[in-house]
Amino acid sequence: MSDRESHHHDLPSRRLIAVQPLMPQDDQRTRFLWYTGKRCNLDCSYCDHHDRVSSYVPFEQFEKAAQIIRREFRDRTVELVLTGGEPALHPRFNEIIRLLKEEGQINYLGCMTNGMRPLDFFIDAMKWLDLLIVSYQIENPQREKVLQVIEGLHAHLTSLSEANRRWLHVQIMVVPGELEHVKQVADRLRAQQIPCTLRRIRPLLHKSSLKSAPRFVPAYTSPLLADGHLDPDLGHNEDIEVPYYSELELKTLKEWETEWGSVGNFYQVESIYEVTQNGKTELIREKQNINDAIMRRENTYKGWYCWAGNQSIYIFDDGRVFAGTCQAKQIGTLDSGFTLEKAPLICPIQWCRCGTDLKITRFHPDGESMVRRPRP
Ligand code: SF4
Ligand code: SF4
Repeated sequence: MSDRESHHHDLPSRRLIAVQPLMPQDDQRTRFLWYTGKRCNLDCSYCDHHDRVSSYVPFEQFEKAAQIIRREFRDRTVELVLTGGEPALHPRFNEIIRLLKEEGQINYLGCMTNGMRPLDFFIDAMKWLDLLIVSYQIENPQREKVLQVIEGLHAHLTSLSEANRRWLHVQIMVVPGELEHVKQVADRLRAQQIPCTLRRIRPLLHKSSLKSAPRFVPAYTSPLLADGHLDPDLGHNEDIEVPYYSELELKTLKEWETEWGSVGNFYQVESIYEVTQNGKTELIREKQNINDAIMRRENTYKGWYCWAGNQSIYIFDDGRVFAGTCQAKQIGTLDSGFTLEKAPLICPIQWCRCGTDLKITRFHPDGESMVRRPRP
């Protein structure tokens, strides 16, 4: 063997073959995300899921859901998060969450909100909610009022006993040109130990402008038509490069995320890789954070088996129920009922994007024996 050959090594090739929840008990967890419709009382320039006119989900739908979840999912740990639009605008909001928590026996009930209802309203709601996620919308003309609600609620929650533990989380939506304000708000919340994370946004694109030069909706501009509906020409298109934040802003945001720690700093899943080097193949298991998996563009599983429908279920405002937030497969409706899926489905989607979905057990056919089998 020549000297040259003896020093030659194949570069290891690494192939992801399976992902599963880090903690085995999470195999038995079902996460519901319920999209309760577009109706909202704010008008953020980058938001394609709001309007001023949509009707509310009828109360009976929540009754049906509570019954189905209690009946079909009683052996599971059930999480359910309401999203929109603005879920807390529903005229019967507090009745709904009481019903879901008590009749539906949901273990972790959460809600996303823009924080525009009064403090007393949220204090009352936290009797039934385990988690409130407040999106601090910088474009909101009443943003200071929302901060005061957040602070008041935090003070209330920290006064509760350990047995009544509830969680509050703030997402600061980062509008370009507003980094000074973002820092002020984050410093103010962090000084009070209120958990907060920064969320980048993507502007809406005029689809018709793609024929010439892409035109985006500028910050602080309403994407709604005069009749209160969203302009149907607007949408997000992830294939188009957006020059939204300046280089300096991107650099600053990266520094802050590292310095402050982000949602990202803990592990949620175990990824299993097949690593081949010099003709030898071995399996490596690594703890991972789902955001890192997205950064490495590992979030593509088309053709893999996936336990959506067992671990992640999406309820649409018209009552249709889907396996996965990605809506890979319709599994029923609130009227006809639905149950836990008994087998994994085959992923039909190019990119798996939602944080809830990314925690599901999923595997390449070659990786089936490497993962725990969720109990159907
Ligand atoms: S508060 Fe939320 S739902 Fe309402 S317009 Fe803003 S981003 Fe959209
Ligand atoms: S996109 Fe949907 S079906 Fe595909 S892996 Fe993600 S959750 Fe599963």
